[in-house]
Amino acid sequence: MLSYRHGFHAGNSADVLKHIVLIFCLDYLTQKEKPWFCIDTHAGAGSYPLLEGFAAKNREWEKGVAKLSGIKGRQIPAALTRYLELTDPEGISYPGSPEIIRRLLRKDDRACCFELHPEDFVALKTLLGGDRRFSLRHEDGFAGLRGLLPPPSRRGLIFIDPVYEVKDDYALLPQVLSDALKRFSTGTYIIWHPLLHRDPRPRESVSFQETLLGLYDGSRLGIELYTAPKDSPPENAGGEPHPAGSVGNSPRGMYGSGLVIFNPPWTLKNALEETLPFLGLTMGIGKDGWFLCNHEAP
Ligand code: SAM
Repeated sequence: MLSYRHGFHAGNSADVLKHIVLIFCLDYLTQKEKPWFCIDTHAGAGSYPLLEGFAAKNREWEKGVAKLSGIKGRQIPAALTRYLELTDPEGISYPGSPEIIRRLLRKDDRACCFELHPEDFVALKTLLGGDRRFSLRHEDGFAGLRGLLPPPSRRGLIFIDPVYEVKDDYALLPQVLSDALKRFSTGTYIIWHPLLHRDPRPRESVSFQETLLGLYDGSRLGIELYTAPKDSPPENAGGEPHPAGSVGNSPRGMYGSGLVIFNPPWTLKNALEETLPFLGLTMGIGKDGWFLCNHEAP
C-alpha cells in the first residue's frame, strides 16, 4: 500500500524534530575527518514546494517550520540555530532528509537512500541522481538495510522514518533493528515514530518507544514532543482503531511524535534538554510538553 505522500506533511512539527536531530548527529560525525556513511531507509522525494502541490493543501508546515520564521539571530538553542542555517524557515520549499544529508556530505562521505513510491523516487532521482556520493534505490528500505551493514568506514548513521502505513511496520521494525544492531552495533540510529491517541497495538502493555529502547542495551535516548493534549483525542480519532499509516505524519489522531536514538553523540542529551522546551513553546502544547529519557551504556 503506497497511499502515503510525504508532501502533504512536509515541514510539520514532526519533520522539524527529526531533522534537528539528524543534523545534530551528522554534524557530530563530521567533527572527525574519517568519512561517514548515512543510510536513509525511507527517504521521500527529497524536497517539497510549500506553496503549491500537496504541501499547499494541508499546510502542515504552518504549524511546524513556519513557527520558527523570524527567530534567526535571536537567542535560541544552538541546535536550532544550526537547523535554521540548513533549512530556511521562510523558504518556499522544504528540504527532506536526503537533501539535508546532501547539504552535510563531504567529498568522501557517502549516502544511500531507499524510496518505494514510484513518483517520489523519480523526484528524488531528479534531485540527487547527479551526485555520485549518493546511491538511490527504488527498493524496500527495511529489506535493504541489512545488506549495507556494517558500512566500510565503520562510521555510520541510519535514519529510519517509516510511514507506519500498515500495522505490520510495528512488528517489522523491531526485527529489522535487532538484525541491524547485530551487524553494526556501533552505528548511530535515529528512529521516528508517531504518538497516537489509539495505540495500533492494543494488546501491548508498553509503549512503542519502550519496545524500541528495549532492543539495545548500549547508550540510547528516547524523546517525545507533544502537539496536542494526550488525553483528549480529537473527534476524528474515534471509531475503529486505524492503522497508524492512515494518519502517517499527519496530526490526525496524533498527539505528537517521538524519536529513539541509539549511540547518540554524548552532547545530544543536553542539546535536546535546551531545545525541546523551545519547540514545545513554538510548535507544541507549551514549554513542558516534551519528554526525554536517557539510558547510558552499562
Ligand atoms: N525521511 C523523509 C524526510 O525526513 O524528509 C520522509 C519520509 S516519509 C515519512 C516515508 C517515505 O517512505 C514515503 O515517501 C514512502 O513512500 C516511503 N516508504 C514507505 N514504505 C517504504 C519502504 N518499505 N521502503 C522504502 N520507502 C518506503
